[in-house]
Amino acid sequence: AIRYDQPAYSAAAQQLLAREPRLFINGEWTDSSHGKRIAVEDPSTGRVIAQVVDASDADIDRAVAAARSAFDDGRWSTLPPMQRERIMIRLADLLETHGDELAELEAIDNGKPKSMAMAVDIPAAISEIRYMAGWAGKLGGETPAPYTLPHGAMFGYTLREPVGVCAQIVPWNFPLLMACQKIAPALAAGCTLVLKPAEQTSLSALRLADLVAEAGFPAGVINLVTGMGETAGNRLVCHGDVDKVAFTGSTDVGKMITRNAADTMKRITLELGGKSPVIVMPDVDVKQAARGAASAIFFNSGQVCVAGSRLYAHRSIFDSVLEGVAAATPNWAPRPALDPAAQMGPLVSAEQLDRVMGFIAAGKRDGASVVTGGDSPTDQGYYCNPTILADVNPQMSVVREEIFGPVVVAQRFDDLDEVAKAANDTCYGLGAGVWTRDMATMHKLVGKIKAGTVWGNCHAVIDAALPFGGYKQSGIGREQGRQGIEPYLETKTVFLKL
Ligand code: NAD
Repeated sequence: AIRYDQPAYSAAAQQLLAREPRLFINGEWTDSSHGKRIAVEDPSTGRVIAQVVDASDADIDRAVAAARSAFDDGRWSTLPPMQRERIMIRLADLLETHGDELAELEAIDNGKPKSMAMAVDIPAAISEIRYMAGWAGKLGGETPAPYTLPHGAMFGYTLREPVGVCAQIVPWNFPLLMACQKIAPALAAGCTLVLKPAEQTSLSALRLADLVAEAGFPAGVINLVTGMGETAGNRLVCHGDVDKVAFTGSTDVGKMITRNAADTMKRITLELGGKSPVIVMPDVDVKQAARGAASAIFFNSGQVCVAGSRLYAHRSIFDSVLEGVAAATPNWAPRPALDPAAQMGPLVSAEQLDRVMGFIAAGKRDGASVVTGGDSPTDQGYYCNPTILADVNPQMSVVREEIFGPVVVAQRFDDLDEVAKAANDTCYGLGAGVWTRDMATMHKLVGKIKAGTVWGNCHAVIDAALPFGGYKQSGIGREQGRQGIEPYLETKTVFLKL
């Protein structure tokens, strides 16, 4: 086993880790009503490095009450929209100023390489806020010309109003980015919110709350509660004073949330799991496509909802594509997240490592062969080597289920219709990658694939200005873009008899 050393934490990170565990409610850091804590681990070492609050029901109720009164008295929703925009931009600027520190927190909490967080998570989080801030002042309704109104002189129009108090529950794979993707449209729309980060990764959200206070948001507009899903998360989902739930996480929990939110008819948006195909057509530059297929699955240790976890390469180039992906794996050898050479870090937790190893073992039992990886390079921390499985069939669990680790299953195909059918043979529909230089082939596949995003000759690109979300069991609704703000607005139709 390799011995890995995680470089020392910066002074700023150490300061955050040493803090008394608290919640951010109504603009203040406050103690929990009980003493329950969640241990924070550094997945690069497996060591416990801090504690955060495991919020109680009473804590959740307090956070919701703060968001409720901040919404009901209009301290945010009736601010001139340009003022809301300005405060949001200030928050984005603060995130930028503290980017290095936030990237380090993501690295030591989630295990992703700091350099990756600097290159991807932090700038994407900032642009979510900057982009959505611009919508604050552009959310008017419609005034259609009177059309079928039979009652004489009548004036009709619509108003767009913020939906109210939002509960926003996010996962651990892109902690800060997911948090910003959630809060930005809510804030632009004039909503108030309670944000609950994943229990595995709360650190960057805690720092975000500091910056929220510094940016000048009125108290109660953004509340942060750390805690477990089944307790704190569920309390938010069922709470009578919450108007909307926005959730990113597993499909199973998404289904549970849908059921639990039904009693109070909350508005819900869900960003759930995936099993995204990467299709490599025979006309490509094989080396380039193979490198692309490798980063589609190994980026963020495969802990990406749109990870390219099913590779379909045309029979005529299958072997060379596989060789190319295998040749790329040394670049993705896992290393501690603060090691400047790291391209891939450990998985987020022991639980996640067990889960991924369990899938690999099941694949082997079912007859899959391991082309590369399939094991862990060390027993300190939660590292998994980049893994390619071949000789798989569509019934195997490694092909059907979301592994959420650096594991790709490779299959051959002969023609376009066959691969489109195979790509769609899943309950998910989040993303898909298509590699070809033939634009007719590209457009044909774009039309056939049932997924919320299709990437041509790239993978996992997102943009704050373009909608993101899932077909089928990958979710309900869209985030980002103009569509991303819709779920945070109600429409009120007004008729005036003149
Ligand atoms: P998870 O569903 O267990 O947890 C996600 C969040 O939900 C956490 O904050 C957790 O505390 C909370 N939660 C858990 N149970 C809850 C409950 N009963 N009520 C309310 N909240 C609850 O998911 P995970 O294992 O932490 O994350 C990995 C999964 O998330 C993967 O399946 C992945 O595909 C998915 N994901 C999807 C997207 C997307 O945009 N579609 C993005 C990232 C991750």
